[in-house]
Amino acid sequence: MKLTFLGATNTVTGSKYLLEHNQQTYLIDCGLYQGVKYLRERNWIVPPISVSKLNAVILTHAHIDHSGYLPALVKNGFTGPVFCTEGTHELCKILLPDAGFLQEEDARFANKYSFSKHKPALPLYTEKDAEHSLKQFRSCAYHSPLALPGDLQLSFSPTGHILGASAVQLTSASTNTTLTFTGDLGRYQDLMMYDPEPINTTDYLVTESTYGDRLHDPIDALDVLQKIITKTTNRGGIVLIPAFAVGRAQLILHLVAELIEKNRINKIPVFLNSPMAISATEIYQRFHHELKLTATDCNRIDQYTHYVKTVAESIDLNTRQFPCVIISASGMASGGRVLHHLKAICGNYRNSIVFVGFQAPGTRGESIINGVDQVKIHGKYYPVKAEIHHLDNFSAHGDYKDILTWLKMIKSPPKCTFITHGEPAAADSLRLKIKDQLGWKCCVPSYRDSIELK
Ligand SMILES: [Zn+2]
Repeated sequence: MKLTFLGATNTVTGSKYLLEHNQQTYLIDCGLYQGVKYLRERNWIVPPISVSKLNAVILTHAHIDHSGYLPALVKNGFTGPVFCTEGTHELCKILLPDAGFLQEEDARFANKYSFSKHKPALPLYTEKDAEHSLKQFRSCAYHSPLALPGDLQLSFSPTGHILGASAVQLTSASTNTTLTFTGDLGRYQDLMMYDPEPINTTDYLVTESTYGDRLHDPIDALDVLQKIITKTTNRGGIVLIPAFAVGRAQLILHLVAELIEKNRINKIPVFLNSPMAISATEIYQRFHHELKLTATDCNRIDQYTHYVKTVAESIDLNTRQFPCVIISASGMASGGRVLHHLKAICGNYRNSIVFVGFQAPGTRGESIINGVDQVKIHGKYYPVKAEIHHLDNFSAHGDYKDILTWLKMIKSPPKCTFITHGEPAAADSLRLKIKDQLGWKCCVPSYRDSIELK
């Protein structure tokens, strides 16, 4: 077995791992690079693999940094199957076409203002390309081993990160070698996701390290949310929650519905204003048996939530002045409908803006939580007078304690643990903790490193 790291090395995006075994090739995760420019430019470099000969792509989960390069791979000649869980498949049906649409929008914008060095600027792929790539998806059940060419067995086990997220295990019977990819690991005692499921054993492990150097604040999420909503609505203000459309938006809806149901907050209107979050909520409700959501919880979400579907309704929402909760995407306020709410809400001290997840460097969300007194949106500056909260306790990623808890359940030390999907400090910090606390051999691979797994 030979493993090559084509993404998520010393960064949290672009997850892509090439596995070569018995003359067969597989790509585990097929993520888009996001964030800083030199990384995004890698999206335009075709991976150094024979794309048309690739046997299959295997996805750990639907997030774009793990799946978003797939339509480009198909455009470049990949015709094989894409294996993933059913939840991942359903979420990709909304996430990938949206990613294509956004890239078309970016290209249109670049052409309109002529700021791209490429004339004309082209999208990496279109919404249509993304829809085309979905035809290659094959859903797999958890714990149902699938035989792949090259004497490999593939299986998925849930990791509690988002719906459908799973660890991917590949086993070669002839060499008696197992390789496991964690994908993104969720948290223990999450309010909506079940705990990450342990794996028994593996010879080699590729683990994420997003929070490899941090611990989440041990807060009671319901309590904190109750206090913020009560304080804001008592002074006649609006609570705006920029949230990631998949996962976090559903968790917030679930918690707010519970607070209303238990009379812990007044029965105020709750608006979900993001077409993608609305579609994702419908999928989460359909797959509620995979989550800690009962049918009653799902009904309660519908009972207390106004789904804002049209642009006219979205605009109308900003003309209203009454206490309410608005949940909108994107989670880092880098785009989407949340920007219109931000413009209308941020200048009034009565309002609160609550960020509920990781805010990447350089995003509007990061600058607002760092206390800027004005924020630039659509070319204009707006004063920030609203009360700002950052609750990274709502993250869908485990912290280093969660990661170590999951690792400790593996019965014997892997021959080597590769630490990926983390900024350099986070990845190295997790490396040291694994080495010191578990005594395991581990390393932080670099971009395009290739390793023979014996
Ligand atoms: Zn993820």
